[in-house]
Amino acid sequence: MSEPNLFEQSPVYRMACDQLRDVAGLIDLDPNIAERLAVPKRSLVCAIPIKMDNGETEVFIGYRVQHSLTSGASKGGLRYSPHVDIGEVAALAMWMSWKCGIMNLPYGGAKGGIACDPATMSLGEKERLTRRFTEEVLPIIGPRTDVMAPDMGTDEQTMAWIYDTYSMKIGYACPEIVTGKPVELGGCIGRREATGRGVVFCIREALAELKIEPHEATAVVQGFGNVGSVTCEELAKHGTKVIAVGDRYGSIRNTNGIDVAALIRYVNADARKSVVGFPGAEAIADADLLTTPCTVLVPAAMERQITKENAAKLKCRILAEGANGPTTPEADALLSGSDIFVIPDILCNAGGVTVSYFEWVQDIQQLMWSHTQVNEKLRELMLDAFHRVRKMSKDRGIPMRMAALGLGVKKVAIEKQRRGLFP
Ligand code: NAD
Repeated sequence: MSEPNLFEQSPVYRMACDQLRDVAGLIDLDPNIAERLAVPKRSLVCAIPIKMDNGETEVFIGYRVQHSLTSGASKGGLRYSPHVDIGEVAALAMWMSWKCGIMNLPYGGAKGGIACDPATMSLGEKERLTRRFTEEVLPIIGPRTDVMAPDMGTDEQTMAWIYDTYSMKIGYACPEIVTGKPVELGGCIGRREATGRGVVFCIREALAELKIEPHEATAVVQGFGNVGSVTCEELAKHGTKVIAVGDRYGSIRNTNGIDVAALIRYVNADARKSVVGFPGAEAIADADLLTTPCTVLVPAAMERQITKENAAKLKCRILAEGANGPTTPEADALLSGSDIFVIPDILCNAGGVTVSYFEWVQDIQQLMWSHTQVNEKLRELMLDAFHRVRKMSKDRGIPMRMAALGLGVKKVAIEKQRRGLFP
């Protein structure tokens, strides 16, 4: 048996590879193509030395992985998180390829990460880190090569710094180098909300199929950052009661329904941006959050949260994966034998990259769309993707995750096959 490659040290990467292997038989994937899809095309690891506010120099490790360059520029978020490693980034890049495939976007998948804790860094330190990272990855990024966007621990401001650094290097303003930037800099209206909105479009389709009215449903959401908070807002807008939420600092519950607008105000006023201590709810143990009885459970924090230990204890009708990779394969096997309607990550959270694509197109054309145009187009593409995946799942009698992977992988595989192998 060959030695594991450097990516395979990561359980998240092994999880992505297991999924690829499982779906290969289902779509008669040519083994020669499967071999190419199992390893990311290009990866860069760099040391990022920056001056901290206390005058000392600290060196952070940064990664950018481009899984596939077959379908167009590669596209994917940049994550700031303490334990991020090359394997995690490679897995996230692979999932981006399948996601873009499902949504028929002209992109390959990519992802980036810097091992750091943004919650403990000043704005100045984060700016220096971001600018130096951009400089380090300059040889492999570009609006036609690789386009970054926010992910866990990064936001519009991070994208603004990347945009500025890249533009200074090339000598002219190039907004299409990143998506998810501030609207004043050519960002797309509705991009910040797009992932959470897409999650809720999918949830509403699943509720309709199960004949549950949104106002009769309850929701539990893990993670109250970009994806989690917008998901809560959108659910509340449609009358669904959000009864428990949690973040990296703790979890809260109010079975009468949490006032989401008040919670967002509370979190924004908190230096750590945490839900802990919110007066309109009681504290609960983190371990009890995901197993709280509810109609819809939305993991919207990070990968590998639903495991073989807690999967059988879930008490929801719908599992809507806002985060990437929140369910381990062992947990997935347990869920596929249950009556839980799983909306898999590569479909459920694809609204973010979809509106990123709208932003990139607008920047290239220098023509801005209205809020209504963005949201209607997002809705149309999300519903189309949801129903294509649902149909394949029903026609073939396979779980939603396998159907989503089948569609996503097949799209990339066909493109690779048609282009052939160079030279
Ligand atoms: P974010 O940094 O804005 O928020 C992350 C949230 O998760 C925070 O509330 C944080 O406290 C919480 N969290 C972190 N570790 C946790 C833990 N161990 N337990 C419980 N909560 C924890 O990040 P985000 O952009 O909302 O991304 C969340 C997930 O959604 C990630 O998996 C990301 O890859 C995925 N995603 C994001 C986007 C996007 O557009 N931002 C698009 C697609 C997928």
